[in-house]
Amino acid sequence: MVLPSKVIDDDDDKTLRIAFDFDGVIADDEAETVYQNGKLDKFVAHEVSNMQKPHNPGPLANLFKKLSSLQALEEKKKAQDKHYQRMIRTIIITARSAPTHERVITTLENWGVSANETFFLGGMKKEHILNTLKPHMFFDDQKTHLESQLGDIPMVHIPFGVTNKAAPKKT
Ligand SMILES: [Mg+2]
Repeated sequence: MVLPSKVIDDDDDKTLRIAFDFDGVIADDEAETVYQNGKLDKFVAHEVSNMQKPHNPGPLANLFKKLSSLQALEEKKKAQDKHYQRMIRTIIITARSAPTHERVITTLENWGVSANETFFLGGMKKEHILNTLKPHMFFDDQKTHLESQLGDIPMVHIPFGVTNKAAPKKT
């Protein structure tokens, strides 16, 4: 769901910057489920013990992989034409930090993809990075990560996984 935002299109801006959350967006909600059901230390222990195991793809894994293959074409073009300006930039912005960042790297390597920039925020607000990078679109499965004071980043909520399950009704 594309959330309302005030965006001023800049005609001089020739790049397309697309930003993704990791868990519940690029990857499935396996790790997020551990986090939501337990505590941070359980999540860290789970991710460290599965460090070498790639995550299963999440709802936007295919989009991320396709952007990566377009970037490989851009890379080829750049090798042929040194004046070619790369147009696509991909960014991962996740609340993970060391040591749970390892599994993100394992996953991307296993899929043969990478992002231009990856931010492991360790709890820092995503808004700060978003305001600096000004992506043309940011995808996250958690609505609380999709709030910005300036309201000038197009944000897309991915209604997937454990963070979007309604709490069981008390009877
Ligand atoms: Mg997430």
